[in-house]
Amino acid sequence: MLRATSAFIFALAALWATAPASAQRDAVVVLYEGARLIPGDGGTAIADSALLVENGTIKQVGRRGAIAPPAGAARVNLAGKTVMPALINTHAHPGFQSGLSYSRDNYVRETIVDDLNRALYFGVSTVMSQGVEFGDVMHEIRAYQRAGRLGGARLLFAGRGIGAPNAGPGGAAYAGIAYEVTTEEEIRRAVQAEAARKVNAIKIWVDDRGGRAPRLSPALSRAAIDEGHRLGLKVTAHIFYHEDAVDLATAGVNAFAHLVRDRAMDDALIALMNRNKVYVMPNIGTPERATHTAPPSWFEEPYLAAMLRDTLSPAVIERIRTSFTSRDPEVAARNRKNYAILQQSVARLAKADALIVLGSDTGLEDHIFGYVEQKELELMVAAGMSPMQVIVAATSRAAEFLELNDAGTLATGKRADFLVLDANPLDDIRNTRRIAKMYIGGQQVDRAALRTSLRIAR
Ligand SMILES: [Zn+2]
Repeated sequence: MLRATSAFIFALAALWATAPASAQRDAVVVLYEGARLIPGDGGTAIADSALLVENGTIKQVGRRGAIAPPAGAARVNLAGKTVMPALINTHAHPGFQSGLSYSRDNYVRETIVDDLNRALYFGVSTVMSQGVEFGDVMHEIRAYQRAGRLGGARLLFAGRGIGAPNAGPGGAAYAGIAYEVTTEEEIRRAVQAEAARKVNAIKIWVDDRGGRAPRLSPALSRAAIDEGHRLGLKVTAHIFYHEDAVDLATAGVNAFAHLVRDRAMDDALIALMNRNKVYVMPNIGTPERATHTAPPSWFEEPYLAAMLRDTLSPAVIERIRTSFTSRDPEVAARNRKNYAILQQSVARLAKADALIVLGSDTGLEDHIFGYVEQKELELMVAAGMSPMQVIVAATSRAAEFLELNDAGTLATGKRADFLVLDANPLDDIRNTRRIAKMYIGGQQVDRAALRTSLRIAR
C-alpha cells in the first residue's frame, strides 16, 4: 500500500525525466535503420541493421532492407551510429550522497530518485540496490516506476542485508541498517521478513571486516541460501576470503558481490562457480580508485569528464581530484599490489567464461551514479576482458541474473531499451560514453531535461 502524500507526488512530478509509460505509446511503430547493432548476448554485431519497435517493444531485428515496416511506420536513420542495449548495474547503494554530504540523513526519496536519474543520464537503465536499505521509500519508488509514473533508472533492491553482529557494511552512514544474526532461526526469520516485503533478492555479508567482527558461519550462510531459495529469491554474498567463496559456491549461493580479496581466485573455485552457476560482480572501481597519487587517465578522459561536469557540483569533482593527489604514495603502492591480484582474478574469470556481471558499488562516497558504471567497463577491459565480454556482462548477463526477462538484449519481444552511440564500443569500450541518444521502452530519454533536473548538479 502506498502512503504517498500529495507533496510527494508533486516532488516526483518535478523529477520525471522520461514521460509516463501510458498514452504516448499508442500504436507507435518505428524502424531504426543503418546503425551497427550489438545485440548484447555476445552474438556478432550487425553492420548495417534494422530494428523495428512497436509500442516500446522490439518486433524484429535484422539487416537493413530485410525488414519491411508496416504502413505508417516512422523511420529513423542511424547510419554511422552504433546501437547496443542500455547498461544494467547489479550492485549499487542509492540514497546516501547529496553534494558533499554523505549520510543516512540523505536517504530520502529525492536523493534516491536523483541517483536513479543520474544513472539514466549515463546510459544505465536498471540499478540493483544491494542491501543497505531501510524503511519504505524504495518500495514506494519501485511501485511508482512499475505504474509508469516515475522515470529514472529502474530500481530493484535487496532490502535489509544480513550479517553477523558488526559484520555488515562499515561506514557510519550505514550503522544499524543490516540485520545482525547469531542463530539459524534468526537468519531464516530475517530472510522471511525481507521476502514478505517483496525484495528482489537477499544480500548477506560473509566477512570479518579485518578482524573487527565475527564471520557469518557456514551453517548460517547455508540457512540463508536455503531459506532464500525456498522463497524464490536469489542470494548474493559479500565475500572477502577465498575459503568462504568455496564454501558459499558449494552451498549454491547465486552471486558474489565482490571478488575474493585475500588472494586471486583459483581455477578450482572458478570451475565450481561455473558448475553451480554463481554470478560474480568484479566491483573493481572502488579499490582501483585507491591506487592513484595523481588524477588517473579515466578521470581526465574527455567524454567521461564532460558527463561528470554536466551532472555534479564542482566541489564534489574537486574533492575527487584531491583524493588522488593527497594519497600517501606508500599506501597507494600497497593498494596497487592488492589491485593487481583483483585484476588477475578478472582475467582468469574472463578466460573461463565465468558469469561476470556489471556491479560497481555505485553510491559509496564520491562513487557517483552512472559515472562509476562507465568507468568500471573500462577497468574490466584493462583487467583482461574483451569489450564484447564486458558488454555482455553489462547487458544480457546482468538481465539474466536479475531475472529481467524484458531487458538486456536487442531481440524480438524485449523492451526497446538502447543506447545510440557515436562510436563503436567494440573498438574502444570507452565509446559507451559517447551517447547520442537513449531510448527506454521505445521512448527517447530527454537527457537535457534529466541534466537540469539533477538536484545537486550545481
Ligand atoms: Zn556494496
